[in-house]
Amino acid sequence: MAQISEKINYYKETLPRETNLVAVSKFCTNEAILEAYNAGQRVFGESRVQELLQKEKTLPKDIKWHFIGHLQTNKVRSIIPFISLIHSVDSEVLLYTIDKEAAHATRTIDCLLQIHIAKEESKYGFTPQLITELLQNNAIQSLRNVHICGLMGMATNCDDYSIISDEFEQLKQLFVTIKTKYFAENPYFKEISMGMSADYKIAIEKGSTLVRIGSAIFGEREYNNNIK
Ligand SMILES: *Cc1c(COP(=O)(O)O)cnc(C)c1O
Repeated sequence: MAQISEKINYYKETLPRETNLVAVSKFCTNEAILEAYNAGQRVFGESRVQELLQKEKTLPKDIKWHFIGHLQTNKVRSIIPFISLIHSVDSEVLLYTIDKEAAHATRTIDCLLQIHIAKEESKYGFTPQLITELLQNNAIQSLRNVHICGLMGMATNCDDYSIISDEFEQLKQLFVTIKTKYFAENPYFKEISMGMSADYKIAIEKGSTLVRIGSAIFGEREYNNNIK
């Protein structure tokens, strides 16, 4: 268990100043999370609502919980009271739902738009074309109870440096274009969430501001474990 705190310290010392660590704690026990917490880590990423709700109830209140998985609209309400950042907004309907629920709760929720950059088939994420269209139509910038804080993306799950590097570069370029055209005056639009355990170094080369690292900190996940 001592390894977890060593890992946290390693990232604290080696990540560039402009890149923050999201410790991805999905499928981890509270004990493992507390070890990271006691090493000073406060930002944790979860991808399943039920699991997140259990952890939020029992773990320290100054943890900043980030949601990084596919979020169903009917689960939005339950996380609105406490969620600190939603990385994975992947549809217009989801964004409107978050806005509506946030208004109910008199909160404003920080969100990232998930962009589909990988070559792999995936149901999730906006295409660069679609997000550009929505922004051109001024459809989403004017929502009052969400702050659109940037973009999130996942590279193709492979070992090929040039593929991963190209995909992160694409996300970075899209970020710059969108920022310049639609959020130039907006102080919130500043995050590029990219990079996981296997590819975070490439993401940092491309300007990542949030790396989402799970297994390199907590070890391989055991998906069939019941979370206590
Ligand atoms: C699980 C997950 C991660 C962390 O993956 P690791 O390879 O364990 O670092 C990062 N981002 C998302 C969206 C995830 O679902």
